[in-house]
Order: sequence, then structure tokens, then C-alpha cells
Amino acid sequence: MHDILIRGGKVIDPSQGLSALRDIAVTEGKITALCDPGTAGEARHTIDATNSIVTPGLIDLHVHVYKHVPLGLDADLLSLGGGVTTMLDTGSAGSNNFDAFRKSCIDTARCQVLGLVNLSRAGLVAAELGELMDRRYADPQGVVRTIARHPGVAVGVKIRAGAHIIGKGKDGWDNLNEAIWAARESKTWLMVHIGECPMSIPDLVNALSPGDVLTHCFKGGTTRVTDDLGRIFDDVRAAQERGVEFDVGHGFGSFQWEVVEAALEQGFEPTTISTDLHMANLHGPVFDMPTTMSKFLMLGLSMERVVEMSTSAPARTLGLQDQIGTLKVGTQADVTVLEPLEGKFLFTDSYSVKRTGNTLLSAAVTILKGEILPAGGGRRMRFLA
Ligand SMILES: [Zn+2]
Repeated sequence: MHDILIRGGKVIDPSQGLSALRDIAVTEGKITALCDPGTAGEARHTIDATNSIVTPGLIDLHVHVYKHVPLGLDADLLSLGGGVTTMLDTGSAGSNNFDAFRKSCIDTARCQVLGLVNLSRAGLVAAELGELMDRRYADPQGVVRTIARHPGVAVGVKIRAGAHIIGKGKDGWDNLNEAIWAARESKTWLMVHIGECPMSIPDLVNALSPGDVLTHCFKGGTTRVTDDLGRIFDDVRAAQERGVEFDVGHGFGSFQWEVVEAALEQGFEPTTISTDLHMANLHGPVFDMPTTMSKFLMLGLSMERVVEMSTSAPARTLGLQDQIGTLKVGTQADVTVLEPLEGKFLFTDSYSVKRTGNTLLSAAVTILKGEILPAGGGRRMRFLA
């Protein structure tokens, strides 16, 4: 007798190249069967996933969940509402407050929360002032010590490389180089936020190594992955080819239809889809992970690619591909059931421009470590045009 049986759904698990009708059984927190419809046997709880898509638990590679400080959300609410079972907090805390962040938010969350350590010792608690405008806030040694103190939880380094955040000219480069140094010294990786950068995007990506991540990759504004004619920079393409990763990090100022459409038209796809959810964009234009995924369906990516960019790809970025982002038998039972709603839906980028799509994914059921969470996806994000 299985604990849970999810039957009748289309299982999309890019980690196994699978996209077909399958039943999934879960027992004692693990996936115990992945088999042809109707062959799994009995279970205590059965979930009817007919007409739905069953995926590995979604992984959101860019969130802010240091709650009770400005912009910080409650990780478990994102998990419940958005079908996300693992999320990466991207630099909300730095060397001076990562311990507090871990104790108050990471260790108390039911879902899996990992964190990047901000080069600024204060993290983002006063981000509106520019967390690295005063170079004394940069603490590369502290980042390395913090990562060493939180193995498996603090998994890398974060810097927001805007001129109003890290300074211009030499200050900007000194900050960026210290973030790179901390990533190499801690044998982890660096996530760089772009946006009105003090250096050009080609110069920036050329400073990154395979495994490093550029986030907000479809941002508009002055420093983009595209040149003035809308062409992807050769250096950006070359960086992706040598293993630098490009993360969506939608956010409230970091996703522009023109840029993403130009990129996809030129065959430049993101490595990972993520939300950059925080207090200021939760109620639009981001809403949640399934809405962000739906935008890429509207832009023409296949359901399989969109699921890959939201499960197995971020799992690989985190080096956890054997544990999460997969439905392989024997792995931890993190499973998301997505309901594809058909209709006319308005999707908004970060510049208040709307597009109309035909499919809106909604997290109908979320199973975390073998437990059915007590809520499905919120329906608040549905905008019927
Ligand atoms: Zn962010």
C-alpha cells in the first residue's frame, strides 16, 4: 500500500527525458513507483491528475525570503501558492546577518531554502541606499567564512551589479572582483544581478566562469544582453557556450518582452526560469512560478523545455540533480501537479506592457518530502482577458 498515488496525469520529467501518461506512487517521503497508468496498485490517498501535468517539485532559483526585513516574503507561502519545493534566496543576507536569516527563516521553513551570501555584509536590509556604495560594506573574507559555516545551505555568492549599488568605475570593478574572488575561494559560484551596470555586459560576462549565473537576463534598460540593434552580444553567446548560466529573475524591473522575444528569436534561451519574488512584485507582475513559466509557453517554448528550466536545470545549477528536480524512483518525493488552464490570459512584463497568452499554469497540488501541502495554487493570479 502506497501513501499517495498520483494517477492519470501527464508526467513531464526532463531529468529522465519523460513526457507521457504515467502514475506516480509515494511512500515514506520517497518516490516508490513511476509506471504505466493503472498499474501502481493501491494507496491511502489518491490524487486524480487527469488533464494535468505532473512535474518534479518546482525549483525557484531567485527569491527573497528573509521575512520581517524589507521586501522579505514567507518561504512556505510561496511554496504553497506556487508549487515550489526548493527555493534559493539570492543574497538577502550577508556575512553579518546570514546566521540570523538561517535561524529565523531557513531552519523554520518547511520547504527547502538555500541561500546565496551577499558581498555586502548587511545583505539587502537597506538595499534602497545601495548596499555596496560604501566599499567598507564589502566583506569577501566574511562571505567565505559564512559559506564554510553553513555547508549545504549557503551555496554561493550574490552581487547586484548596478552602478547605484556597487559604484562606478574602479569601485564597481573592485566590488565585482571581490565577489568573484569570494566565489572562487569558497569553491562555490557567483550570481550577478544586472541592471544599469557600471561595466558593459560583454566585459561583465567575460569576467565570469562556468557555473556562474547572470540573473535578470531579459532586463531592459541601458545594460542588456542585447546590443542597440537588439542582437545578442557575441560575448554573451560565447559565455553561455562555455557554461555561464542565464537566469530569468523576472522581478518588477527585470523582464522586458522586446528583449526576451529578440533573444528567443535568435535562439538564445535562458538556462533557468525564476521569479525574483519579493514583497513588491508578489501581487504583480510576477505572482508566482507557474505564471512566470506560462509566459515562456506564450513565447513559444515547449512545455517540456519550460518544465526543464524550472526543475532539472536549476537542480543542476545547485549541484543537487541527483536529489531534487527529478521524479526518479528512490528520490525525495517533491512533486507538483500543474493545471493548464485554457483561455485568454493577460501577461504583463516588468514595464507594464501586456501580452495575451492561451495557457496559464496553476499549481493545483504540491507534495513536499512526501506530504501533500494543505493548499493548492492561489487563483488570485488569474486574469481573464
Ligand atoms: Zn532579487
